[in-house]
Amino acid sequence: MENNVNNEVDFEVIIVGAGIAGCVAALKLADKGYSVLLAERGQSAGSKNLSGGVFYCRVMEDVIPDFVKKAPIERYITRNCISFLNESSFVNINYGDARLENSVTAVSVKRAKLDEWLAQQCEDAGVTFMPGIRVDELLMDGDKVVGIQAGDDKLYSHVVIAADGVNSMLCRNAGIRTRELLENLAVGIKSVIGLPKDTIEERFHLKENEGAAYAVVGDCTNGLNGGGFIYTNSDSISIGVVVKIDALAESSESASDLHDRFLSHPAIEPLLRGGELLEYGCHMVPEGGQAMLHDLTRAGLIVIGDAAGLALNTGSTVRGMDLAAGSGIAAAKVVDEVLSKKDFSQAAMDAYYTELNNIVVGKDMKTYAKMPVFLENPRMYKNYGPLLGDIMYNIYNLDTTPRQHMMSEGLKIIKKNQLSAFQLIKDMYTGVRAL
Ligand SMILES: Cc1cc2nc3c(=O)[nH]c(=O)nc-3n(C[C@H](O)[C@H](O)[C@H](O)COP(=O)(O)OP(=O)(O)OC[C@H]3O[C@@H](n4cnc5c(N)ncnc54)[C@H](O)[C@@H]3O)c2cc1C
Repeated sequence: MENNVNNEVDFEVIIVGAGIAGCVAALKLADKGYSVLLAERGQSAGSKNLSGGVFYCRVMEDVIPDFVKKAPIERYITRNCISFLNESSFVNINYGDARLENSVTAVSVKRAKLDEWLAQQCEDAGVTFMPGIRVDELLMDGDKVVGIQAGDDKLYSHVVIAADGVNSMLCRNAGIRTRELLENLAVGIKSVIGLPKDTIEERFHLKENEGAAYAVVGDCTNGLNGGGFIYTNSDSISIGVVVKIDALAESSESASDLHDRFLSHPAIEPLLRGGELLEYGCHMVPEGGQAMLHDLTRAGLIVIGDAAGLALNTGSTVRGMDLAAGSGIAAAKVVDEVLSKKDFSQAAMDAYYTELNNIVVGKDMKTYAKMPVFLENPRMYKNYGPLLGDIMYNIYNLDTTPRQHMMSEGLKIIKKNQLSAFQLIKDMYTGVRAL
């Protein structure tokens, strides 16, 4: 038992990790008037964080009204592109919509700027923000989490919120995730390439403040389970690859080589030409979906954001930041309840599951529960890109030979790509069901 004889607390709530999840929970609890400590190991919030960069940010309106007008965002995402990349060809589904221009759903962000701004909002709301503090372990009183230890310092609270990201030490410490399965994790390597604003708008066909988001599959991961992304910022481009760790481990590829290969691909390099490398980083991504969502509470402890495994890859969108924010809101609501009842038991903290399941976070995790298994299908990364490339080539390569009906040409192309019509239909059916 910890030596906290008077059962006094230093803060009502201690939150570990000033990413989006931690900052949102802190803001919500400070708004209710609770004393909150937000501990962050980085020298500033966001200094250790890395995202591709598209934030599906509607959820933030519940935290900071007029978020998109106030926050340091880069561009409003008005154009989305799904790109099948092959060695010598690419097929893009390029989607623009005036409706996306009128109501902002997604914005590109740089985490170093956004997280620092969010932490400042927390401080302005009365949160005690402590950067440069690496929390080493949880303090326990029997089965109940009663605080944190950082170096020799011990701090006590009624509730601890673990918002310490995908590699959560606090979860391991609480026996929640001793070691995450490799199949549930991916690794992301990202560069930020600086380019003049006008050049970005010209190359990506954007008006001022508008942004584009590309989800790329195929040659960018050399056929491994994963994908690439390209997001436009105000005067830079965030670009990189995310690859499943188990697929990478079984191959002879390195994630950094895949990243470099993607950036120098003939279809990609012209978008970056003349740019200057501003940032380069690597980070893990939880990709196990619903399978990772278990065991998120202890007496006195709630786990949120990436630490809880809350991220969704649907092939066309990567979502983690909005789920982090949503889980921060859910946790704050439950902590408000347990603090007002002074009941920090396991049963009381378990209200968090109900809260998550009632909001978009839990509902979407459930809706896309089949996605991780569907995305394990190697044909997605190896065969379908070349298949589409061959179909397009057949349509546009008007040589002097007579044209054949699409049906007979299509079957030949399917066979050439080591596929069968049956497999194709089955994969389409499974994909539609997973979506
Ligand atoms: C390459 C890549 C691309 C991605 N693209 C997107 C995208 O386009 N859109 C999207 O929505 N999501 C994307 N994601 C996922 C998204 O980044 C995460 O889901 C999101 O950042 C999770 O937020 P979080 O607050 O839970 O965790 P984090 O942002 O990881 O924050 C955790 C915080 O805890 C701190 N911390 C950790 N341990 C300790 C400790 N012991 N003591 C004190 N502090 C600690 C860290 O320094 C960090 O600040 C991407 C991820 C990667 C890696």
